[in-house]
Amino acid sequence: MVIYMKIAFYGTKPYDKIWFEPMGKEYGFDIHFIEAACNQETIFMAKGYDAICIFVNDYVNAEMIDVLYEMKVKAILLRSAGFNNVDVKAAEDKIIILRVPSYSPEAVAEFSMALLLTVNRLTHKAYNRTRDFNMSLNGLMGIDLHEKTAGVIGTGKIGQAMIRILNGFQMHVLCYDPYPIEGLEAEYVSLEELFKCADVISLHCPLTSDTRYIINESSIKLMKQGVYMINTSRGGLIDTEALIDAMLENKFGGVGLDVYEEEEGVFYEDRSGEIITDDNLARLMTFPNVLITSHMGFFTREAMQAIAFTTLENAYALENGLPLVNQVGKEMVS
Ligand code: NAD
Repeated sequence: MVIYMKIAFYGTKPYDKIWFEPMGKEYGFDIHFIEAACNQETIFMAKGYDAICIFVNDYVNAEMIDVLYEMKVKAILLRSAGFNNVDVKAAEDKIIILRVPSYSPEAVAEFSMALLLTVNRLTHKAYNRTRDFNMSLNGLMGIDLHEKTAGVIGTGKIGQAMIRILNGFQMHVLCYDPYPIEGLEAEYVSLEELFKCADVISLHCPLTSDTRYIINESSIKLMKQGVYMINTSRGGLIDTEALIDAMLENKFGGVGLDVYEEEEGVFYEDRSGEIITDDNLARLMTFPNVLITSHMGFFTREAMQAIAFTTLENAYALENGLPLVNQVGKEMVS
């Protein structure tokens, strides 16, 4: 069999192999699965490979781009939609970046709603209580979502899926996006109005220089007392210290975080036997109305299969000189 491409696959977990291993063989790719994350120390493991394949908590900075270029690595294959973890400008003319722009927006939107329902109706606490034969309801009261106002920030693929779900709950949906689209069952408003009016805020915009800390001390001040906030997008959208200060003032009804600004090296790992050195993360965990999950909004069978398929299709297109429909270019970063 002809070997088309040698790919160094960073940050491998057992569940990555389920689809990448058989599909990679079908394409004829030689995939080397590496457990380590891609970073400054591990980038040299890519020597002799045509491409590296990375996920959200791997990173490739400008220096690493130069190392890859020297080693004649042709491409960075992202197994994700977001590309804030790669220095796209530095890669221009040196290395091709290909991503998976869409795999299952519904997976992430459904998980956002799962987080909202959980922090609101506290099913995770009820589960633990009843297993202990504690059938008390004290402290478990939530709110109706029906006819409340939801605010969706970012009306791309996931934001739109979230709007459909919120409408299913018969919520009044407000949204904000600098590039509005037509035909949504939601009302575009200014960011300020969204912050002021929403009972529930869900973040679905990418992390860029414009959106970093979009949730900060002043935006939190605009929000309603008792607001619920869900972030399945990127941790850097929220100024964690401002969030903690507001939590201490009892501002939020509940907060669901699938992402965290310092998640790299912590999320996706079992660190249960270790001392937590990140004080902000430890502090967040102490709030009874904060629920943190380990960047798993994408994690469904359908999404994983689609990620593997598109990633390998990207590699196939590159190898065969086909149009690179999923290329990330410097015009996509601000
Ligand atoms: P998308 O590109 O389809 O949509 C992003 C939307 O955000 C676009 O409509 C864009 O115009 C808008 N936007 C850009 N700047 C904005 C700003 N300043 N304010 C408000 N909106 C702005 O992306 P998507 O597929 O919907 O994904 C959204 C984000 O979800 C990704 O960037 C990624 O960070 C995150 N994500 C998380 C998971 C997970 O497992 N938790 C999985 C996939 C994606």
